[in-house]
Amino acid sequence: MLRLPEFTLHQARSLQEACALVAEAPQSTRLLAGGTDLLPNMKRRHQHAQRLVALRNVSELRGVAGHGSGEMRVGAMSTLSQLARNQELQKSWPGFVRALRSISSPVLRTTGTIGGNLCLDTRCNYYNQSEEWRQAIGGCMKEVGDTCWVAPSSSHCWAISASDSAPLLCAIGARVRLASVRGERVIPLEQLFVDDGIAYLGKAADEVLVDILLPPVANTRATYWKLRRRGSIDFPVLGVGAALRLDAHGVVEHVRIYLGAVASAPLRAEKAEEALLGQPLTEASVRAAGEAARGVANALDNTDFTMLWRRQMTAVWVEGALRELGGLAPRAHMPEMPLGAPGMVV
Ligand SMILES: Cc1cc2nc3c(=O)[nH]c(=O)nc-3n(C[C@H](O)[C@H](O)[C@H](O)COP(=O)(O)OP(=O)(O)OC[C@H]3O[C@@H](n4cnc5c(N)ncnc54)[C@H](O)[C@@H]3O)c2cc1C
Ligand code: SF4
Repeated sequence: MLRLPEFTLHQARSLQEACALVAEAPQSTRLLAGGTDLLPNMKRRHQHAQRLVALRNVSELRGVAGHGSGEMRVGAMSTLSQLARNQELQKSWPGFVRALRSISSPVLRTTGTIGGNLCLDTRCNYYNQSEEWRQAIGGCMKEVGDTCWVAPSSSHCWAISASDSAPLLCAIGARVRLASVRGERVIPLEQLFVDDGIAYLGKAADEVLVDILLPPVANTRATYWKLRRRGSIDFPVLGVGAALRLDAHGVVEHVRIYLGAVASAPLRAEKAEEALLGQPLTEASVRAAGEAARGVANALDNTDFTMLWRRQMTAVWVEGALRELGGLAPRAHMPEMPLGAPGMVV
């Protein structure tokens, strides 16, 4: 049995107290939400902390407010299953709900939170292993060693961002509120991520993620397609978050496509967006966008499946997501809706 290392647990009772507690020693303190990522990582000695600040009793971080006709606020400590069951989210942002339902398993979704999902540690085949396994290869740069086994000549860590909610939320233009003893700031969600497998969050260590702000729906169509080996539990090996708006003539006037699990941050597929902007959603335009996305994704040997196949699937998955948004029939052998089908257990 894997045991947790010793640490001191502080139960914050307010946002102000949480900020003060973490500010006392930001480098040796970690925030604890549902613990479904952090605690297993501490057991395997991936992540280390002498102090944990539990956010469970911080009421300011809970709840969902607003409607899709305006900005919606989603508290960072809302659990994934609470959000997936929320009727306003189901109505306004079904693509977000689909992404949430694809995360791990029903049991973990009742504990795991949206804040924890966005601040998830990056993942790699050579890192998400037991301590003994990692010691046998001498570790790697993300932890204690000085080598990257994925790209040995590289001084960069290529561990991937595996959050299922992040690509979709980036695509719809969500923002996040961060709080610390210095005050509050609101940034585009995209800026919460850094394309670096080690320093993967663009926030200070003492900043608490308070809530996620979803923009008004305003005719935006959004979806999330996830590729993984099994239909449950598995992290994504590719996630496609796509959001677009059509003008009165059915021409794409706004589009954002983000790829998950192909870089250390959600990766914007600008070339795929360019292939669509100003075009109607047709067989030709969605296929061109898929092909353009293939060149954006630099899949490496850091997660499940072969690199070549994952690169090929980027084109297929982006095209599939766009076909769904455009109401086009799926191509032969392509799933109509790879996850989140009606009736799925939340
Ligand atoms: C078997 C298994 C399968 C999984 N499958 C998936 C999957 O398919 N897709 C997926 O996306 N995830 C998956 N996960 C990861 C995880 O369960 C979820 O991402 C979950 O949402 C994490 O939330 P949490 O509240 O448990 O985070 P925690 O483990 O509590 O925290 C995660 C990180 O976020 C930080 N953090 C948490 N809340 C805040 C906050 N408010 N402000 C600042 N920092 C904060 C913590 O300090 C920690 O570094 C899986 C996990 C397991 C064990
Ligand atoms: S990408 Fe390289 S440095 Fe980063 S976790 Fe994997 S092996 Fe380690």
